[in-house]
Amino acid sequence: MISFVGAGPGDVDLITVKGRRFLEEADVIIYAGSLVDARHMECAKEGAEIYNSATMHLDEVLDVMKKSHEAGKNLVRLHTGDPSLYGAIQEQMDALDQWGIDYEVIPGVSSFSAAASILKREFTLPGVSQTVILTRRAGRTPVPEGESIDKLAAHGASMAIFLSAGQLEDLVEDLKKGYSDDTPMAVVYKATWADEIVVRSTLKDIVKDMEGRDIYKHAQILVGDFLDTDYEKSKLYDKHFSTEYRKGTK
Ligand code: SAH
Repeated sequence: MISFVGAGPGDVDLITVKGRRFLEEADVIIYAGSLVDARHMECAKEGAEIYNSATMHLDEVLDVMKKSHEAGKNLVRLHTGDPSLYGAIQEQMDALDQWGIDYEVIPGVSSFSAAASILKREFTLPGVSQTVILTRRAGRTPVPEGESIDKLAAHGASMAIFLSAGQLEDLVEDLKKGYSDDTPMAVVYKATWADEIVVRSTLKDIVKDMEGRDIYKHAQILVGDFLDTDYEKSKLYDKHFSTEYRKGTK
């Protein structure tokens, strides 16, 4: 059986219980070594074959999968965070579909959730924003027209930006087309890793506040009033508000 497993953002205890069990039972593990902590391999069983996909191209990964399947082995493909986000798993799943090889996907804790947990903020504050935009700025890999940061910024929604710490200045210029200068902004580098760094700032000061920190990758950039603002209390826990589970006073 082949399983794509989300390893979580860093801290090895943030993998799901099911993901950990699959890792422990795997005969073959292919992990994304550039972003997945190698300590996850400590729970592999003795004799498990371990591959680091950082040095492999797609065909090599698929070849290991196909051979493992033919040999009746359990294989775990370990991706960082949640595999459905910037994980390049679709092309792997499509190849397996084509070969008629069955597989399972076990979700994971994405780095955008991890970053919010570190900052102790809620993305969806009532009256502030009820929408979270997960995106990245066009870099070496383009993004479709219509999804440029300045267009997305026009919504004023809560935003989590992946893969863009290396272009902070340009990113800020794009964001300024939609958000006001004093909009709160935070950078969380290596969320939940031992060497995590958190920088809280605003749109107008973030470039200055990041100077000299050498953070060009492995960071979440969060933008929006949700990071620091007044908001309406939720209706869900309002004592006057009836829900399916609780009768309120109104
Ligand atoms: N599937 C992953 C994202 C992979 S793309 C997920 O769900 O998180 C890699 C990008 O994710 C990095 O450039 C960075 O923007 C972000 N990222 C991954 N792990 C991170 C972490 N621990 N802290 C901050 N950002 C992280």
